[in-house]
Amino acid sequence: FDHLPKTTISDAVIASAVAEELDRQKNQIELIASENIVSASVLAAQGSVLTNKYAEGYPGKRYYGGCEFVDKVEAVAIDRLKQLFGAEYANVQPHSGAQANQAVFLALLQPGDRIMGMSLAHGGHLTHGSPVTMSGKWFDVVSYEVDPDTHLIDMDKVRALALETRPKLIVAGASAYPRQIDFAGFRRIADEVGAYLMVDMAHYAGLIAGRKYPNPVPHAHVTTSTTHKTLRGPRGGVILTNDEAIARKINSAVFPGNQGGPLMHVIAAKAVAFGEALQDEFADYARQVIANAQALARVLTAGGLGIVSGGTDCHMVLVDLRPKGVTGKVAEIALERAGLTCNKNAIPNDPEKPFVTSGIRLGSSAGTTRGFREAEFEQIGTLILRVIDALAQVPEGDEAVEAAVRAEVKVLCDAFPIYGA
Ligand code: PLP
Repeated sequence: FDHLPKTTISDAVIASAVAEELDRQKNQIELIASENIVSASVLAAQGSVLTNKYAEGYPGKRYYGGCEFVDKVEAVAIDRLKQLFGAEYANVQPHSGAQANQAVFLALLQPGDRIMGMSLAHGGHLTHGSPVTMSGKWFDVVSYEVDPDTHLIDMDKVRALALETRPKLIVAGASAYPRQIDFAGFRRIADEVGAYLMVDMAHYAGLIAGRKYPNPVPHAHVTTSTTHKTLRGPRGGVILTNDEAIARKINSAVFPGNQGGPLMHVIAAKAVAFGEALQDEFADYARQVIANAQALARVLTAGGLGIVSGGTDCHMVLVDLRPKGVTGKVAEIALERAGLTCNKNAIPNDPEKPFVTSGIRLGSSAGTTRGFREAEFEQIGTLILRVIDALAQVPEGDEAVEAAVRAEVKVLCDAFPIYGA
């Protein structure tokens, strides 16, 4: 697979940057919870001639000629997605998770309507009502938070807030919430106040496809997702529903409401990824992702770090660095120097600013794709602790410790290669 970036891109500047990125991905351990490593087959589909094709509309109803074969591709993607999540209707055209969410808002809301979502500072996504996004600028936003002691969503508080504020749409789903979400409970609350329930399952989609995390689709009016996180497909978005009237509105909101031509090469890659997720091995993958995240959380806890909510039910571990007196910003940079890539992340009620933070967010999806199991994630936990403990002593980072950790990371990466040795 080595040939792909090096010999097929004739532009020397871009070819070399892509080769360097491939080298980076091969030789560091990816712990960013929203990332994964797609198969060679997904890469090939995304890099295919389908990028040349305009196909505004939907299969069988296009505004362009020559759509016979891309129709086949999109129909397969839709069918596989419906099968994966047990949905009646699916739209595979959103270019991203943010655009999937925008399409739902466009389909179901008017500017000025009230929406309720999880606060960004407590784990929600920007598109769930943050004032810097369209969701926050165009809608009247009410945010729920996690409980300050348990770090769990308190469904009684969510219900009370919904009863008090009467939102038209409630968003369940998160970017930094490591526990199971009570989707049935959210639907009961939505029904009580006459709101739509939109679930954004972006982070958990692969675990749901592998039947290791609760499926929101039977409960939500509409479910959105990205395709590139635990689901291990190309970057993109999708929307699912069991309601025919909502499905029609969603299709119009995606095209022509919010987007022009679909990215048919990406849709082909989505179809390939959905096909992979339908295989029995993907359920094993999902189980291993969670087991690995739990192993990592155990080692970090034993090493004296705080773990938000005390553990994890998914691929994500949210680490509270305050017991070591280190910030997320400093930890992220030091870990990257040591070959461990992650992102700083606010913890609930974080005393630090969003650009500094008291936490880091770790994820096991990409490492599990490489073949790491519990033993490797336990080792990764000890490597993380070595870097952070050194930071606690030497605030600018201990070069010798980081170099030693980087050497161990390299051994692990060589033992579990990606895209060929
Ligand atoms: N929804 C959630 C819960 C996310 O975590 C993310 C991305 O991090 C998105 C939506 C946005 O996805 P994208 O980056 O594809 O727009």
